[in-house]
Amino acid sequence: MNQSTEKPYEEVNVPAAENPAAGWSAEWDAEGKLWRLAGKCPRCAHDCVKEVFDQVVVLALQGAPEDDPDVGTHVVQCSCSVAHPERPDEVANGCGAFWGIQLKHPAGSRP
Ligand SMILES: [Zn+2]
Ligand SMILES: [Zn+2]
Repeated sequence: MNQSTEKPYEEVNVPAAENPAAGWSAEWDAEGKLWRLAGKCPRCAHDCVKEVFDQVVVLALQGAPEDDPDVGTHVVQCSCSVAHPERPDEVANGCGAFWGIQLKHPAGSRP
């Protein structure tokens, strides 16, 4: 199996200007009591899933006003299941890319 066509692992911060959160969705998992964010990695374009355990309710994936105190940036790191070359042994998955996704907390839920 030749995987050399995949990008090598590299820890890179994808700038927000590249709108990495576009196309991401959030689903509430009532059983696990968590939000499951899903979308494609902006660097390698593989599918990624991120579980968010805090009380995030409304996703403001893009266009959230920066002066809204309930909007926080959650850092997501690529968690694709594709084997990227040069990935360190201690890293289980992903291509190394990380980026921020804006999440809106419900009013009054912040500690
Ligand atoms: Zn990947
Ligand atoms: Zn990736």
